[in-house]
Amino acid sequence: MEFYSTNKQAPMATLRKAVVKGLAEDRGLYMPERIKTLPKAFYDDIAQLSFQDIAYQVAAAFFGEDVDGDALYDIVRDTLSFDCPVVKVTDDIWSLELFHGPTLAFKDVGARFMARLLQYFIRMEGSERVNVLVATSGDTGSAVANGFLGVEGIHVYVLYPKDKVSKIQESQFTTLGQNITALEIDGVFDDCQTLVKNAFMDKELNEKMRLTSANSINVARFVPQAFYYFNAYARMLEKGELTFDENGISNLVVCVPSGNFGNITAGLFGQQMGLPVKRFIAANNANDIFYQYLQSGVYDPKPSIQTLANAMDVGDPSNFARVLDLYGGEHERICAHISGATYSDEQIMAAMRECHESTGYILDPHGACGYQALKEQLQEGEKGVFCETAHPAKFKEKTDAILDCDVEIPERLAKFMEGEKQSVPLSKEFEDFKAFLLKE
Ligand SMILES: *Cc1c(COP(=O)(O)O)cnc(C)c1O
Repeated sequence: MEFYSTNKQAPMATLRKAVVKGLAEDRGLYMPERIKTLPKAFYDDIAQLSFQDIAYQVAAAFFGEDVDGDALYDIVRDTLSFDCPVVKVTDDIWSLELFHGPTLAFKDVGARFMARLLQYFIRMEGSERVNVLVATSGDTGSAVANGFLGVEGIHVYVLYPKDKVSKIQESQFTTLGQNITALEIDGVFDDCQTLVKNAFMDKELNEKMRLTSANSINVARFVPQAFYYFNAYARMLEKGELTFDENGISNLVVCVPSGNFGNITAGLFGQQMGLPVKRFIAANNANDIFYQYLQSGVYDPKPSIQTLANAMDVGDPSNFARVLDLYGGEHERICAHISGATYSDEQIMAAMRECHESTGYILDPHGACGYQALKEQLQEGEKGVFCETAHPAKFKEKTDAILDCDVEIPERLAKFMEGEKQSVPLSKEFEDFKAFLLKE
């Protein structure tokens, strides 16, 4: 299968190129040339299939032409070393818990899959080590570092701003060792990002070492997120929660707390593959660019503003280009598939409190947007599933204060915090960073 760029000014790319490069030459995002509909037999049997078997069928539809079947099965199985269950919150609202992976957030799925697919391509090409550079303000670094941990042939450099990430976040990428090196940059997040960008443009560095990014717009990080939407549907069907209309469309409404819109786009791809989801809701925090677009038809990016749900603080969502492309740029078609919601920090806190008091379920600030949107928008006879995109313990201080409780820290998170911090302090000067990399 080949991949085209959403900007349509770059040549078609093979899967290998799309995965290794990430972004097309015209700075567009790669899209698969076809989205295959999965066969009726798959949907007939889906409630009897395991998560991993469902995921393999979905993966094969995108990657099956370019990756050997057994290898793809192993990649899927190794990626999904944890479950993504649906958990009942109210009679009509279920939580799709995406936080059971190593770093307690949904980004684990895409990062783990990408690491393994990249390794597959590197092994085919020979032995030269590939170096992944990733700048992080917190969460991306931990998902990427843990996704690539122990993957042979790949070394990861995580650049993070000194004293600007929480201790919990820092521990998730500074205590790993092995093929992960954490670089503590004396600057802010933008400095880290600039260092990475400059490295990709530096001729000498690129001649001496193979550099790649593990950006969230990479097809290998974004497509695998479709797996758990299929699993959510299968498990809801298995529990007897779903009904169908005369066209075979279910009463399932999927609500996704969204920032860069990678997660929801994977769900929309699933729907194009025949997954009978009725409709989607994109829940925003105060960064409501997409919500405004749905209302007005005008896409008007803005600088991001800081909120309680900070992983969704995005003022110019990169995957908007994919959403547009998927529906031929037609506002009306987009509105037919997706509705929006936007919540202030006060509303997020109120939703967390209401849910905790009436159901006992502890939401994190991101999932709270998803829960609240279903609460407000679910219609008679519909069943709603929202993505609980992170474990509340990742935001323990905020969550404890808002709910006046003491969120339990899962063991795997506590383990990170016990580990010894290993990081290399560096200035924000490119020459220092470059000299460090060349010495490696
Ligand atoms: C990244 C992230 C989001 C936003 O996902 P997008 O794919 O960028 O829309 C939501 N919640 C959490 C916890 C995240 O880490």
